[in-house]
Amino acid sequence: MATIYYEKDIHPELIKSSKVAVVGYGSQGHAHAQNLRDSGVEVVVALYPGSKSRAKAEGDGFCVMNVPEATDWADVIMFCTPDVPMSKIYNDGVAPRLRDGQLLLFAHGLNIHFGLIEPPKNVDVAMVAPKGPGHRLRAEYVGGAGMPALVAVHQDATGQAKERALAYAWGIGSGKAGVLETTFKEETETDLFGEQAVLCGGLSALIKAGFETLVDAGYQPEAAYFECLHETKLIVDLLYEGGLNYMRYSISDTAEWGDYTAGPKVINSQSREAMNGLLKDIQDGTFAKRWIEENEAGLPNMKRYREEESKHPIEEVGKRLRAMMPFLKTKEVPV
Ligand code: NDP
Ligand code: MG
Repeated sequence: MATIYYEKDIHPELIKSSKVAVVGYGSQGHAHAQNLRDSGVEVVVALYPGSKSRAKAEGDGFCVMNVPEATDWADVIMFCTPDVPMSKIYNDGVAPRLRDGQLLLFAHGLNIHFGLIEPPKNVDVAMVAPKGPGHRLRAEYVGGAGMPALVAVHQDATGQAKERALAYAWGIGSGKAGVLETTFKEETETDLFGEQAVLCGGLSALIKAGFETLVDAGYQPEAAYFECLHETKLIVDLLYEGGLNYMRYSISDTAEWGDYTAGPKVINSQSREAMNGLLKDIQDGTFAKRWIEENEAGLPNMKRYREEESKHPIEEVGKRLRAMMPFLKTKEVPV
């Protein structure tokens, strides 16, 4: 059985008596910093000189330090910057100033698991990885709920690494929802696989393929949009609340029959082979190597994908339809 920690298992004083530096003030960083502060923890935000996020963090009332200064000040350092530049941020600003017993925390295991960051033996190294986007992490906390998180220990110098990480998880509100114990390896591999095969890659490709099939067959793009994209949310809400069987209980018998008989034709043995291929590339480091190379080359393919995908017909029709549904509180990618 998996080990899951809740508030009753956690000692909040381990974080309340610590000084915490949250490095980065983006999606995760702003939520960590604000949730910790509201939990009574002393927090600073660490950024580089000239960071665009500086004004935002200061506007939210935080003391902002440069990364080296924050490393000197803090007992606990949480890395909430993008994963690729993280090893440089660590090597330049953090590593040369580390002292005995500090706790380094990560919200995703990639850098530690693939050996891109190699901390010295005299510090604790652990992970607190919330299982959802930063803006939701903050919203759940404000609403009195919490977001589940994963906890893992890579290195325990003080003998208290896990308890300290759990106390941090309490501080961001995850003790309310459950903190599942895992390893850096399991978190890194399952997280990358999940976002590639299911949550982001798989789902986007499924929606687009369904939309294109209908439009190519002569149906109105508006009808295809409602059917293949808009309605996903309604189905996912049912899955979230009650799992697959509750979703099937709630839909029509005809839809349920379609689920059992058509699903395996779409996600078939070839799709499963592709999933195994993705997993293998993640496990043996091929994916991480390619992604780092793409970054080092200045993201040429990423830029091309962004450009092409933003012009897909489903985006054009969706934008028009969402504008007619103000209750959706529609969102646009900031320019
Ligand atoms: P973001 O891309 O939102 O982080 C951007 C922040 O990092 C900005 O404040 C940026 O400053 C700052 N930053 C960039 N470079 C530096 C630097 N050299 N020194 C200090 N700060 C810097 O990251 P995420 O929140 O998406 O991800 C953070 C971590 O959380 C990652 O490990 C990720 O894998 C993990 N994670 C993310 C989730 C998510 O939902 N996004 C979910 C779970 C885990 P500026 O504004 O100047 O660019
Ligand atoms: Mg994830």
